[in-house]
Amino acid sequence: KHSTHLAKRSNAHQRNETQVPPHLSKKRDALLSTRKALPIWPHAEYIRAALRKNNVLVLTGETGSGKSTQVPQFLMSEPWCTKTIAITQPRRVAAISLARRVADEMGSLLGNQSPSAKVGYSVRFDNAAGPNTKVKFLTEGMLLQEMLRDPNMSQYSAIIVDEVHERSVNVDLLLGFLRNLVAETDQGTKRRNPLKVVVMSATVDVEGLVAFFDEGLAPLEVKTSDSKDQHNSCSSDSGSGNSSQKIPDIQSAVAKDNDQNARGTNQEQIRTPRISTCHVEGRQYLVKTVYLSEPTQDWVEAALKLIFQIHYKESLPGDILVFLTGQDTIEGLEKLVNDYAEGMDKEVPKLLPLPLFAALPQHAQQQIFQPTPYRTRKVILATNIAETSVTVPGVRFVIDCGKSKIKQFRNRLGLESLLVKPVSKSAAIQRRGRAGREAPGLCYRLYTEEGYKELEERTIPEILRCDLSQAILTMKARGVDDVLNFPFLDRPPREALEKALLQLLQLNALTDVGAISDTGLKIAKLPLTPTLGRVLVEAAERDCLLDVIDIISALSVENIFLNLVTEERKEAAEVARRELYRREGDHMTFLVTVQMYTEEHSDRKSWCEKHFVSHRAMQNVMNVRKQLHQQCTSLKLLSPHASTTSSSSAPSDSKTQAILASLLRGFISNTARLMPDGSYKTLMGNQLVAIHPSSVLFGRKTEAIVFSEFVFTGKAWARGVSAVQLDWVSEVVDAIM
Ligand code: ADP
Repeated sequence: KHSTHLAKRSNAHQRNETQVPPHLSKKRDALLSTRKALPIWPHAEYIRAALRKNNVLVLTGETGSGKSTQVPQFLMSEPWCTKTIAITQPRRVAAISLARRVADEMGSLLGNQSPSAKVGYSVRFDNAAGPNTKVKFLTEGMLLQEMLRDPNMSQYSAIIVDEVHERSVNVDLLLGFLRNLVAETDQGTKRRNPLKVVVMSATVDVEGLVAFFDEGLAPLEVKTSDSKDQHNSCSSDSGSGNSSQKIPDIQSAVAKDNDQNARGTNQEQIRTPRISTCHVEGRQYLVKTVYLSEPTQDWVEAALKLIFQIHYKESLPGDILVFLTGQDTIEGLEKLVNDYAEGMDKEVPKLLPLPLFAALPQHAQQQIFQPTPYRTRKVILATNIAETSVTVPGVRFVIDCGKSKIKQFRNRLGLESLLVKPVSKSAAIQRRGRAGREAPGLCYRLYTEEGYKELEERTIPEILRCDLSQAILTMKARGVDDVLNFPFLDRPPREALEKALLQLLQLNALTDVGAISDTGLKIAKLPLTPTLGRVLVEAAERDCLLDVIDIISALSVENIFLNLVTEERKEAAEVARRELYRREGDHMTFLVTVQMYTEEHSDRKSWCEKHFVSHRAMQNVMNVRKQLHQQCTSLKLLSPHASTTSSSSAPSDSKTQAILASLLRGFISNTARLMPDGSYKTLMGNQLVAIHPSSVLFGRKTEAIVFSEFVFTGKAWARGVSAVQLDWVSEVVDAIM
């Protein structure tokens, strides 16, 4: 009886799998010919064979060649693929939009829409993976979090690490962990079935990656064979037929079977490389590059002029992709384009500006993939997200401001900031390439040709220039004791590692002997920086967690207040926001804003308009807030029965003090005191900082401040600032010492 029951269930399950609703199967069938035309399509069989033979494949191919969407689909029916395939992305936007695309291509829903869905995603603050998810897109950070819970990655048959060329800290950590895991599996430990690892990238040092994985495996001395006749790499020129870059075969390792025989003998072995490689040549049409004749500081203005010049003068159809630095410049330009477009003649086709940045809510991001409406030209205003992460169809014109925001850690000061810096040549080349995917295109660089020549060749990997405390906490939580000897693709300077260890000690995330503490474990499980994680843990102890969650949610999006361009609007906003502003500073102001927004049940959009608050950002805040409530509940920081709304009545003085003290506990390196001359200097590092003009405390003098962001634009600014008392600071410092 039991077995018939099982048989019935399995039949039902199979029916479930094959039954695709007509509207989904229609979409799937329509997309098949597009998929078949992708440059990667002819390589499907090679890729499958490579992974049947070896556990690691390094796959390179230009952006848009089909790596992210097709490779998981090529592999999912392989005999070894009994579980899920994970595919990591550096950014949420890409993870979500790829999951949608692959779901469409497979005729499936997404994991949060139906339990039988085969495609899902999991990004910070949003999980859409179901029980039957076969292909799961995740951000690198999410996969790292999963690794903490399941070090052997036992729910996956394969892990595809995509966009490796971006070299985020997280990707470097993942590669280190995966290298160890592959090596352990190779020695028959840890996992029952080997884990397949695919490393994918637009431009990458293939040899370096192969050597990296191979070193992890190499259990014996082997001479490197120079023979070129063993083919374990593929290469193609599916494009124009001109010479394709050949990836060298790297054959340095011996198959495991030969392992024992080789030991102790000098016999030359027949060596089969254990790491496969494959290169897919993308399509690239000619893109003409136009430089400025004189350098400019005001590239927003320059971009605006060019957008209209292209729109009026270029008879060519095709959308415009503008690379800018961040949400502020994007929203500013979006407004300007809309304002100027209003004055256009009726006969001129319309202009449709579409923003694209990491903090943008999903539905807004999806707009860039919608077909361009009739007689309309899309203008996509993007950060470097559109450089390689997201392929925007229809683009023929690229405008590149030549800058991007990057994280930079100043070891001496112990402060990390986002800096607007010139991009590297390789980034500029990627940006230009976006114009030539479907037809010849045009790229305007908002800098001079000399300026281009002065750019660095490559972007320095993040791990060499950012705050490493989160990375180290992740390693410690995963049981890596000796972080100084972790297999890094690029080893960060010792000074940076030590600084991070020190910071973790200060946060009480590590014990005196450098092991992870209970507090550290909690922080590591939160999808926040160690600093913010520490703030949350402290807030739980000080009984103000709900308020602090509201504040952290607001800090997690780029800016909840609209960025205003004209003086007139600035003045109007000043008046309208008066009821939100708090004299204690920005954090309490954020709290009040989030609380009032949450309480507004009838028309949140109008409420935002009235207060010059970004509705888009607030929707994101709500999402983050919900997830933080869930995570704090699962970490038992929050009782499952607790109400999830913080009290909206004006917080008492003691409550305010508890909130600010929690902030101080995490941000102790970001505290500064007032100097006799009216300036502020940080307590640790003696760095001069000024209160940013966007702060409600701008121009105010108070004995000490704590700030959640440090920005450096010509001058060192503190952003997100609260006024605190020196006694509170001393109390926290005493607790640390
Ligand atoms: P790669 O990973 O090599 O950069 P992708 O697999 O991401 O390439 O993209 C292949 C093609 O699929 C792109 O050229 C694009 O036209 C299409 N595509 C990818 N994502 C989407 C999406 N979300 N919506 C529509 N088309 C998409």
